[in-house]
Amino acid sequence: MGGRTTRQRKSVLSALAGCQDFVSAQELHALLVADAQSIGLTTVYRALRDLAAEGGVDVVRDEAGGRLYRRRPADGHRHYLICRACGSSRPVDSEVVEQWADRIAADTGFARVEHTVELTGLCTDCHTTEDREGVPPCRWEPEHQDSPDRARSCAS
Ligand SMILES: [Zn+2]
Ligand SMILES: [Zn+2]
Repeated sequence: MGGRTTRQRKSVLSALAGCQDFVSAQELHALLVADAQSIGLTTVYRALRDLAAEGGVDVVRDEAGGRLYRRRPADGHRHYLICRACGSSRPVDSEVVEQWADRIAADTGFARVEHTVELTGLCTDCHTTEDREGVPPCRWEPEHQDSPDRARSCAS
């Protein structure tokens, strides 16, 4: 059973590598079928779930709660800002998050600490065409780099 699973996983992973944006299992399945691969949607789901569990694939949720997948870059994971309306995504600077996570790990002594951070919003194309959905709960400004790590030194 191992050989077959490995081959199908490889197909899923290489199809995923060709995608620039996050894709759903259905979209990926359609790509594979268009590429003359005989693979079932259930198998695609399973392969994606396994790959995500191993850390080879990043998973985010879309507005409806569906899962979207993207191959994790070789240099580690990334965080993305995803449009809730059209599903487009772009990587965002997450240095602050990584430093925070590293610091928590160091402070607590926990090993292999992992995190998932999802940012969703309405891209410029979508929020100019749609009515505003009210005030977002928080604002992320990746360009604001004046004080990347405002180290609050607690003089003890
Ligand atoms: Zn959009
Ligand atoms: Zn991170």
